[in-house]
Amino acid sequence: MGATATENGAVVAANVGEAVPVAASPTATGHGFWVASTDGTVTPEGDATMYGDAASLALAAPVVSIATTESGDGYWLLGGDGGVFTFGDARFYGSTGDIRLNQPALQLVGTRTGAGYWFVARDGGVFAFGDAGFYGSTGNLRLNQPVVGMATTPDGRGYWLVARDGGIFSFGDARFYGSTGDTHLQQPIVGMAATRDGKGYWLVARDGGIFTFGDAHFYGSTGSSALPAPVVGMVATGDGGGYWLVLGNGQFRSFGDAATIATTPIPSDGFSLVGQVVAIDPGHDGGNGADPSYIDQPIWNGREYEACDTTGTETDAGYTEHAFNFDVATRLAALLRARGATVVLTRTNDTGVGPCVNVRAAIGNQARADAFVDIHADGGPPGGRGVAVLQPVADGINNAVIGLSDELSVDIRNAFVAGTGEPYSSYDGVNGLQPRDDLAGLNLTTVPKVLIECANMRNATDAALVTNPTWRQEAATSLASGLSQYLIGFP
Ligand SMILES: [Zn+2]
Repeated sequence: MGATATENGAVVAANVGEAVPVAASPTATGHGFWVASTDGTVTPEGDATMYGDAASLALAAPVVSIATTESGDGYWLLGGDGGVFTFGDARFYGSTGDIRLNQPALQLVGTRTGAGYWFVARDGGVFAFGDAGFYGSTGNLRLNQPVVGMATTPDGRGYWLVARDGGIFSFGDARFYGSTGDTHLQQPIVGMAATRDGKGYWLVARDGGIFTFGDAHFYGSTGSSALPAPVVGMVATGDGGGYWLVLGNGQFRSFGDAATIATTPIPSDGFSLVGQVVAIDPGHDGGNGADPSYIDQPIWNGREYEACDTTGTETDAGYTEHAFNFDVATRLAALLRARGATVVLTRTNDTGVGPCVNVRAAIGNQARADAFVDIHADGGPPGGRGVAVLQPVADGINNAVIGLSDELSVDIRNAFVAGTGEPYSSYDGVNGLQPRDDLAGLNLTTVPKVLIECANMRNATDAALVTNPTWRQEAATSLASGLSQYLIGFP
């Protein structure tokens, strides 16, 4: 196949795990596609020829985008860390793989000459390489909603960025033809495509709803029919007389003059979480017990003072809560990263002290997480057992995220009960939900957040479960499923 794979500058360290389809790019004829998955796998469909993939490499970050070269005889893959991989006649013009991006990279777009490319990151940062010109970015603005996609003008002297709410940012000779930034969308925007003459564009929502602006025609949508997977992007045909919607299972929906591309779904344990940031706080820490002066220091939790942290609880046999929390968090982080999410952990080992609970909240806020979950197990009455999800109560600081946190708590509770068989707590909350106004982690959050008490470590039945690694994996899988339901509407 003559494939070459180069990732330049990036530290190639850890394998990202299983394959989840994240993006697709068409062949020159429009009768085939290459589908890219998070683990670097490329799957050719229709008349697409295989030029190689990155599946055998130990990737530092999941693959998030694929773009066909002008000739159609090659493609680039983009990693979430800004690393660029070249295949076929695609050439390497540079990457950000060796610098730390503020927010993950999302999408790569080649220039018309094939001698350069841009890519865009979640904060709207635009990086131009080869003969691609830089015309501005939103990387230095604080956006209400993250950027989800990019399209370029016909002469390549400008581009649009689109945010999750359908807000449009125009740069260079790209003109503004309207946006959905002021309307309340049923489903978030996930991508865009420009018309052939650059005098209009389409936006596509996660459910396949299409919004047209300028001279973009409406050729149909899937907005009213149930899809087997969320839409992850759209591609316009060469003459602009149609478009494909790309689904998160590697399938396509064709409209207008877009050729039908029949594919079988790519098996996976979930759908793309590219562009989503999840914060995870494994409660307590392994060294807390040895440093009471640190963890006993008072911190302001938004309503009152509380201790910086505690040691947590343990089972009668001595299996500690901090070890349980860290183990489940580590398993959950791996599952989410395999699906392309960016995961931020408040601690990365189980031997340190702290950080204090207010600092843990700040870590998720600063990451501008789309969802934040605190993982704990309870030290409740030995006669009671079950799961409880603790919800924030409005205190002025967290007001804007109360409604979303309530949605998150229900999605997490439902997935956890379904996936682990754990009953609702018999002593904490109602139907597994308990509002709490006395915890820094919930009081100080500015992102959607919940705290889950997975089980009661002081109860013999629950103690046997939390001590079992198989159950902990089920717990992590359930949490990933609940987070995914909340983030993309699919478990
Ligand atoms: Zn705890």
